[in-house]
Amino acid sequence: MVVSGSSQIIGLIYTLIALPVIAYVWYNDKMTRAIAYLFLFITVFLGFCIFSPMVPHQFQQAVIGDGPGPGTPLPMVIGLIVVFMVLTFVAGRIFCGQLCPIGAVQELIYAGPKRTTSAAEKKIAMMIRVIFFIAFLAAGLLFSVALLRVFGIKEFFYLDFSSTFFTVFVILIAISLFFYRPFCRLVCPFGTLLSLAAAQSLFKIRRTDACIHCGRCEEVCPTAEAGADDAKMECYLCGRCTRVCPEEGALKYSRAIEGTAKKDQP
Ligand code: SF4
Ligand code: SF4
Repeated sequence: MVVSGSSQIIGLIYTLIALPVIAYVWYNDKMTRAIAYLFLFITVFLGFCIFSPMVPHQFQQAVIGDGPGPGTPLPMVIGLIVVFMVLTFVAGRIFCGQLCPIGAVQELIYAGPKRTTSAAEKKIAMMIRVIFFIAFLAAGLLFSVALLRVFGIKEFFYLDFSSTFFTVFVILIAISLFFYRPFCRLVCPFGTLLSLAAAQSLFKIRRTDACIHCGRCEEVCPTAEAGADDAKMECYLCGRCTRVCPEEGALKYSRAIEGTAKKDQP
């Protein structure tokens, strides 16, 4: 394992190159499970090798003002957060979907009983994440406490079995076998910020006039974001909806074009 400023740069370069590539692949309807898995495996590999890109940790660093691990200079950390928010505003949560090692490891582990999230569960999950977000900010700003450290994410990716490896994050990883991305959806403070940007994102998966309203996409979506009116705040571009859709061209990763996006029929 290599952890240094230059290795952090490698992770950043990978992310800044991969993100538009993934957006381009989505935009051209070429995203397959194999391509998605390729990026997920590379991302997790980088997570274990260079602990990068771990923006939730860097977000915490920005709040507290010291370096809790990655040691990235503070101005760069803040710049990085802004850049990823802008990229999410443009392209949706590609970073969370495939480029954050924390998210990628949960995506790979999710074995998915095909039970999906209900609208009520989605609201509860959002409330929990807001509570965590406030707790992260309060702990950091008022008490200079790095709450994320107690999750043992660093220990997990550093394979540090001697300290807090077997703590919260390992439990969350185990839970993510059957509950989709618990850390991303309930805890991650950076994910909360990105979900706000994603709600207004220019590019996202949209229904077109080819949609026959069979509801299959909604049946498989693990975050209850596949409805025609859903904002896609919690869409991790996992591709489950596009893979099961029986109508070619009914779901497109695109900008809204007047007349092509269609609402659910009553
Ligand atoms: S929500 Fe947080 S942990 Fe999950 S993928 Fe996004 S940045 Fe990473
Ligand atoms: S199933 Fe579709 S709408 Fe739901 S999270 Fe995956 S890509 Fe997004």
